[in-house]
Amino acid sequence: MKLPAHFDYREDRLHIEQLAVEDIATRFGTPCYVYSKAALLENFASYQDACARFYAHGQTLVCYALKANSNLALIDLLARQGAGFDIVSAGELKRVVSAGGPGVAGRVIFSGVGKSRAEMQYALEQGIRCFNVESVSELHHLNEVAGRCGRRAPVSLRVNPDVDAKTHPYISTGLKENKFGVAFDDARAAYQLARSLPHLDVIGIDCHIGSQLLDDAPLIEALDKLIGLIDQLAAEGIEIHHLDLGGGIGIRYGDEAPGEAPVRVADYLQRVFARIDAWRAARHAGKPLTVMFEPGRSLVGNAGILLTRVEVLKPGSSKNFAVVDAAMNDLMRPAMYEAWHGVAPARPGTGEVRSWDIVGPVCESGDWLARGRELALAEDDLLAILSAGAYGMTMASNYNTRPRAAEVMVDGDQAYLIRERETAEQLFAGERLLPG
Ligand SMILES: *Cc1c(COP(=O)(O)O)cnc(C)c1O
Repeated sequence: MKLPAHFDYREDRLHIEQLAVEDIATRFGTPCYVYSKAALLENFASYQDACARFYAHGQTLVCYALKANSNLALIDLLARQGAGFDIVSAGELKRVVSAGGPGVAGRVIFSGVGKSRAEMQYALEQGIRCFNVESVSELHHLNEVAGRCGRRAPVSLRVNPDVDAKTHPYISTGLKENKFGVAFDDARAAYQLARSLPHLDVIGIDCHIGSQLLDDAPLIEALDKLIGLIDQLAAEGIEIHHLDLGGGIGIRYGDEAPGEAPVRVADYLQRVFARIDAWRAARHAGKPLTVMFEPGRSLVGNAGILLTRVEVLKPGSSKNFAVVDAAMNDLMRPAMYEAWHGVAPARPGTGEVRSWDIVGPVCESGDWLARGRELALAEDDLLAILSAGAYGMTMASNYNTRPRAAEVMVDGDQAYLIRERETAEQLFAGERLLPG
């Protein structure tokens, strides 16, 4: 099995950077999410470096999509690298403001199909960079809230370009039948409306067509459609200052078909900037255009693992189950999308190799983490569920009153607790009995 960068076996023990995962599990317990700082920074640098190398004619801003992993330590690290942030709730904005340092709100864009008026007001007060508006109704709400607060709201319209991202239906967002964005054919009318509303400033255009894309062709197709729209809008006197292509670049989970691999970030960005430069040279020269991205998974997915210990082995006549101490409430992706995650033992097993289903203790048949893995397992073995840095902890729940896992960041030979393990008492601390 090919391990993600900064994970490897040394003297038969699985390491993350310079630390054996066994030592991390001993110190912090399991289940436990563990992230590599070096992997995270390297992934972010791949975006920053490509922006610097391939786009000389305007600004760029890489906005980390917080919903992939919103731990404050990650926000802090990325903010120090100059990242912006793509948020989808007031709660996420509170995280950014709390961890990102002064001025960070000016690098925040607010996506989401159902922003409440209270969320809009909070974001306006914080002075965020842009609202990515997803409907005509939202334009009216935002205009009304901005008017009430005596502010102007900077807006971009999330255009649904109707391209097929060719990914899992639950993470495909750019088709006509998806709930996201303004339909491509309605976009010009929506822009005209936005321009006419007194408390809005039209500044940008954006899209986000889906997640875990291995091929960038649909993204380039979406870019071409947006470029065409920018030209049409310019002809109608609406000037677009930034173009935001969303996130969506996939990562290697390990179950890709032979020859299939996620596009390299640098290659994708190079193609994007080549397209934009050619278009600007032909029709749009002179006017600066900021280009933005909203990557989530490609920054953090392969920077993290979920450490879990085998509680019980249940070999059977039709299936062998290894019941571990992590479950669907810790890592929802397999239950939700039938997602495939690699499983790496902390050290080579001594038992007999069999085909195991790795399942959690939760009372649901959908509670599995991996199926049919050839492993030599014994009880108390420690396993790493790979590629769990994105949409792992942020989707965790407390189903079965299971406290959420601890989170740890490794930096070289040091490990830091970046989120304490929850206690069961915390889970019901807000609950109240009826009087009497
Ligand atoms: C989820 C999301 C992203 C990030 O997607 P990834 O596939 O994790 O890169 C970016 N933009 C928006 C609007 C999103 O909803």
